[in-house]
Amino acid sequence: MRRRPQQHDVRPVGVLLPADPHGRRRSSAARGYLRPVMARQNLTVLTGLQVTSLAGGVQVTGVSAVTGSGENVEIRAAREVILSAGVIGTPKLLELNGIGDSDVLDNAGIRTRVSLPGVGANLQDHYVVRLGFRVRGSQTANERSHGLALAREMMRYVVSGSGVLTYSAAIVGGFGRTSLAKWPDVQYVMAPASFAAGRIGVLESEPGVSCGVWQMRPESRGHVHIRSSDASVAPVIAPEYLSHELDRATVVEGLKSGRKIFAQPEIARYIVDETVPGRAAASDKQLLQYARDNGSTVYHAVGTCRMGDDAMSVVDANLRVRGMTGLRIVDASVMPSITSTNTNATVLMLAERAAEIILHGAKQAQAAVEK
Ligand SMILES: Cc1cc2nc3c(=O)[nH]c(=O)nc-3n(C[C@H](O)[C@H](O)[C@H](O)COP(=O)(O)OP(=O)(O)OC[C@H]3O[C@@H](n4cnc5c(N)ncnc54)[C@H](O)[C@@H]3O)c2cc1C
Repeated sequence: MRRRPQQHDVRPVGVLLPADPHGRRRSSAARGYLRPVMARQNLTVLTGLQVTSLAGGVQVTGVSAVTGSGENVEIRAAREVILSAGVIGTPKLLELNGIGDSDVLDNAGIRTRVSLPGVGANLQDHYVVRLGFRVRGSQTANERSHGLALAREMMRYVVSGSGVLTYSAAIVGGFGRTSLAKWPDVQYVMAPASFAAGRIGVLESEPGVSCGVWQMRPESRGHVHIRSSDASVAPVIAPEYLSHELDRATVVEGLKSGRKIFAQPEIARYIVDETVPGRAAASDKQLLQYARDNGSTVYHAVGTCRMGDDAMSVVDANLRVRGMTGLRIVDASVMPSITSTNTNATVLMLAERAAEIILHGAKQAQAAVEK
C-alpha cells in the first residue's frame, strides 16, 4: 500500500517490545513476523489507526482511516487491500461499506454495494465452563497472588523470571472423549488457581485449582452484525452458545468427565471439596444451568466471512471477496468451521498460505506483462 504524504500522530511499530530471547514472554505475530523485517524499504507500519471505509466501488482502491486524534488518513492500494480486522472487525467493516446481507444493511440505513448474505453469519466459538476445587497439601497460585506473597512473586519474577507471574492461563491441557462421540470431543484446561463462581476475575485467596472444559467442535452458530452506519457504534455480537442440542449435551458430559478426573486417587488426595458448581449440582439439568450462567468465551471466534463456493460464502479459495476486485480477507473470519482446538496457530498458517497465494499471483501477473 502507498500512503499519501500527510502529517498525523500515528506511532511507528518500533514501540513494540523487543523479541524475547529468554522465552520469558509469549511471542506474537508482530514479534515473530513483523519485527525481523521492519527495516524493509517496501514496508510501512502505522499503528493507532481505525480503518473506517473502503475506497472505490466494486473495485477496491484503498482505505480511509481515522487517527486517535480524529485526523482522517487515506491510504491508496498499489495492488489490492488485504483486510485482517478479525472475526468482529472484518464483517463490521464490510457491512459499513455496503457489503453484506441486504436486510442487515437496510436496517442500518446503508445502501447495498455488493449483496453477500454470509457476511457476519456463521459465528463459531469455544465455550468454556469451569469446575473449581478447594485443595490442601499443595500451594496454588491463589494464595501466592495476594498481599505480601504477591510482592514476593513480583520480586521473584524480576530477579529470576520464574514464579506465578510466568504461568499461562492453564498449565495442564488434555483432550477427552465423552460417550456422545467416537473421537475426542472435549478439551480440558487445568490451572493451579480458581475463581469465585468459576468465572475469570479475581483469584480466590484460599488454595484452589480449576478445570475448564469446552466442546471441541460446537454446532451452535451465531452472528456479528452492525446496527448503525456509524463506525464508532459496536456491532451486535450474538454467539448463540449452547443453542444446539449436541452442544448442551456435550458440555454436561464434559463437566461430568472433568469431575471423574478430579476423583482419581492421585489428585483426589489433595481435594477438599468441589467449590463450583459444587456437589449440590448433581443432575444434568443443574449442570446445564450452571454452564449457561457461568460459561464464557475461550476467545476462539471464527467463521464470520467464511470461505466456500456457495451462496453463503464470502471469500473464494484464494481469499478474494466474492463479487469484488482488489479485496482479500486474511484472518480467522474466513475459517468455514472452527478448529477442534485453539485457533492462533491456524490463523498464522492461514496468513502464511495467503502470502504464498498473493506472491504467486503477483509473479504470474509480472510474467504476463513481460511476455
Ligand atoms: C484474550 C485472548 C486470549 C487468547 N488466547 C489464545 C491462546 O492461548 N491460544 C490460541 O491459539 N489462541 C488464543 N486466542 C485466539 C487468537 O488470538 C485469535 O484466534 C487470533 O488472534 C485471531 O487472529 P485474527 O488475525 O483473525 O484477528 P486479531 O488477532 O483479532 O486481529 C485483528 C486486528 O484488527 C484490528 N482491527 C479491527 N478493526 C479494525 C479497524 N477498523 N481498523 C484498524 N484495525 C482494526 C484489531 O485491533 C486487531 O488488532 C486468544 C484470543 C484472545 C482475545
